[in-house]
Amino acid sequence: MRFDLISIFPEFFAGPLDHGIVRRAQEAGIAEIHVRDLREFTRDRHRSVDDRPFGGGEGMVLKPEPLFEAVESLLGHTVGDSENTAASEKGTAILLMSAAGRPFTQDTAQRYAALERLIVICGRYEGVDERVAEHLATEEISIGDYVLSGGELPAAIVVDAVTRLLPGAVGNEASTQNESFQRYEHRVRKIAEGPGALLDFPHYTRPAEFRGWRVPEVLIGGNHAEVAKWRRQKAIEKTRRNRPDLILKADESPIG
Ligand code: SAH
Repeated sequence: MRFDLISIFPEFFAGPLDHGIVRRAQEAGIAEIHVRDLREFTRDRHRSVDDRPFGGGEGMVLKPEPLFEAVESLLGHTVGDSENTAASEKGTAILLMSAAGRPFTQDTAQRYAALERLIVICGRYEGVDERVAEHLATEEISIGDYVLSGGELPAAIVVDAVTRLLPGAVGNEASTQNESFQRYEHRVRKIAEGPGALLDFPHYTRPAEFRGWRVPEVLIGGNHAEVAKWRRQKAIEKTRRNRPDLILKADESPIG
């Protein structure tokens, strides 16, 4: 899978994408990550990427021209204009990172992992000229209900969440099928139908006793059926406690 990140701070990505699973996925050729400097696509002497907002108000807004040209140079063709819009490319999504976007979830990550290519536009300042959201991006995506100073961290988060779902990226394939937010049907059979999900169950490792706190006895006993039951119960408890919204969304009748 190929990722193209468009940013005014290309050097930002040197750290976050160079560790662990994401690094190994790149080395193994499972993920290819390219970063483009938005300023390369400016034509004026000052290489300006932003301008003052029409209608007045605070801050600066990223201009449409360099963003359209950056994406078009990556696609290898024009996306058109108000008279003629080119059909969008199958297998490619063009994401605009935006606090005002649709929420990015594990389901979104799964959907992206089935694509061939993600082009990710990182905003800055007050945001991005709306014509980018309307006529260039195929999706406007938020990573959560808070405002960050730029789209670079959100883009790195999307790359990380998607990359670890690519076949072969995580050593043990099963470990991405048994995590937080996986839907009920995958996690536990014969539980409420619906769009809900469970958080992960608690994990423990050695020592079996640490400062007087013992690991739950059932995990040491070696009874796999009992362990599975306990984990399911704990996952449900934890979801109820930390994210009751995930369960309530699923079904009227409480689970567990
Ligand atoms: N004025 C905007 C915020 C701009 S923040 C508003 O109120 O919605 C500058 C840039 O940071 C945005 O263009 C976007 O690319 C990025 N950004 C900030 N918060 C984000 C979030 N929660 N998810 C994704 N991108 C975000």
